[in-house]
Amino acid sequence: EKTISKIAAGEIIENPAAIVKELIENSIDAQATSITVEIKGTATEGISVRDNGTGIESEDIDKAFLRHATSKMAQFDDLNYLKSLGFRGEALASIASIATVELLTKTKDSVTGSRTLVQHGDIVAQNKIGVPVGTTFYITDIFEHTPVRKKFLKAESVELHRIVDMVKKIALGTPHCAFKLIKNSRILFQSSTSTSLKDHVYSILGNMVAQMNYIEKDFDHYSVKAFFSDNTLYRSQRTEQYLFINGRYIWNVELARLIEKAYRSSIPLDRYPCFVIYLTIDPKLIDINIHPQKNEVKFSNGPMLMQSIRDLAEVSLATTKT
Ligand code: ADP
Ligand code: MG
Repeated sequence: EKTISKIAAGEIIENPAAIVKELIENSIDAQATSITVEIKGTATEGISVRDNGTGIESEDIDKAFLRHATSKMAQFDDLNYLKSLGFRGEALASIASIATVELLTKTKDSVTGSRTLVQHGDIVAQNKIGVPVGTTFYITDIFEHTPVRKKFLKAESVELHRIVDMVKKIALGTPHCAFKLIKNSRILFQSSTSTSLKDHVYSILGNMVAQMNYIEKDFDHYSVKAFFSDNTLYRSQRTEQYLFINGRYIWNVELARLIEKAYRSSIPLDRYPCFVIYLTIDPKLIDINIHPQKNEVKFSNGPMLMQSIRDLAEVSLATTKT
């Protein structure tokens, strides 16, 4: 059984950044407005994620570490995919099978909090403890007992970069939550909750936002808020193209290509425009093919939707061309 769960875990938890992603997404699903990620030592030695979300009820803690146990309603369907970030109930079980996990949590209605220690997937200690409302996970010994997985890790600097990138991307898509990433007391990334989306994007992407135009439009069943680069801002790769659907980062190459066509005569042929698109849509209204791990989707009935986003890119570009 242990071997099976270790193999399965490898499919999701490939590196420390994947741990950070899963824990942050859980915090967001728990309505956190503040999330702090801390790396102590190297990225495989110790990672903690602290949030001020709902916390976990004492009686639900054991279940949280069971594979396929989720509190987030649980059919593997498109609908739920776009409502909460997690839904498969696998992340905690996977993390616990490849690392040591310590969980501190308290809900607002409980008098004390609790501490749970999980080793090799089993709960080995549990006690009451005074902690603030919210949840903190301490993850240590990452891949310590799965040396084969550990061998696949890249250099420490690469793994660290993956984490920074991940936190930045999630922060960009989650303006209602403040993020902090700390490594050995040094702040590597920070974002705060901003009143305007523009401030938020600026605080994360910095000066390049000055070369982007903001445009928003409400359609019948969805709304789009987007930043498109003008004809002076482009990249040699698709590195600054962000699409968030209901807050979830999505990669969709079809949409990227469609938008790029709008730029064809405005920027050099071998360059790519930059964009940040926030799409809000009733999950019932689009069909999506899910690749759970890749965050890749295909809109099967979304040509109109994609065309409307491309049109916005065109309008945005037209307003700045001289
Ligand atoms: P999923 O997110 O798919 O439900 P996970 O394995 O990631 O599955 O988490 C299992 C369960 O643990 C969640 O459904 C949730 O109830 C609980 N949980 C995990 N992290 C947190 C958190 N930071 N705050 C509150 N509850 C959490
Ligand atoms: Mg989850």
